[in-house]
Amino acid sequence: MNQPILLIEDNEHNICLLRYLLEAHGWRVAHASDGPTGIALAGTLRPCLVLLDIQLPGMDGYAVARALRHDPALATTPIVAVTSFALAGDRERSLAAGCNGYIEKPIDPDTFVTEVQRHLEAPPACMESA
Ligand code: MN
Repeated sequence: MNQPILLIEDNEHNICLLRYLLEAHGWRVAHASDGPTGIALAGTLRPCLVLLDIQLPGMDGYAVARALRHDPALATTPIVAVTSFALAGDRERSLAAGCNGYIEKPIDPDTFVTEVQRHLEAPPACMESA
């Protein structure tokens, strides 16, 4: 069974848009609205990829990425930051926190799926089939 993509995002509009785009391309989507819930879900679901909003209530995405990387089972899981932050240095901060890549909001529906696929191709863990 294919593992889900885990979406950690608190904005209703983005949740709907990303879920729609991912499910339209055949992925299963699990969702959490905050960091601690997302970390707990990641530990049990072992998602094939994590889409991580950086601007989350309470625990921010950088802290979530670091926590995910502390779990050996998630050490190679692709984590893609999704953020509306336009500040220079955000990409570097995301990568330093353990993210593999970075997608900027607003989401471009024409390129988003390609970006996700690109990150799914790399890790062997995602190629396993039951
Ligand atoms: Mn947010």
